Amino acid sequence: MPLPAPEPATAAFWEGCAVRELRIQKCAECGTHRHVPAPVCPHCRSFDHTWEASQGVGHVFSYIVVHHSVHPATADHVPYNVAVVQLDDCGGVFVTSNVIGCPNDGLRVGMRVRLVWEQVDASLSLYRFAPV
Ligand SMILES: [Zn+2]
Repeated sequence: MPLPAPEPATAAFWEGCAVRELRIQKCAECGTHRHVPAPVCPHCRSFDHTWEASQGVGHVFSYIVVHHSVHPATADHVPYNVAVVQLDDCGGVFVTSNVIGCPNDGLRVGMRVRLVWEQVDASLSLYRFAPV
């Protein structure tokens, strides 16, 4: 699979993944958490922010199962799921990932999940979720 290409707004997030820390951006002005990382708070338009490490526990808010590969890199991975997980902490922010350790037909909205890390190369881990 193609690896992420950090940009200025996302570099701290990916650096967190390298040390297995799920970092969520938090507005320093109004306190709103946001994900994916962005340079400006969508709530108050402040450019100031901090990072908060999530404990990585939450529930499946929504999911899909992808059956048709639209990129050569995913051809060997279908069917796979893409899940939107709402974290218990960090303001209940939503993060998009995959749920592993569970058959796709076992996924349910509301399912409790916890963060797990998948080592993808020597310097990067990617965040996934597994049933609690
Ligand atoms: Zn704000």
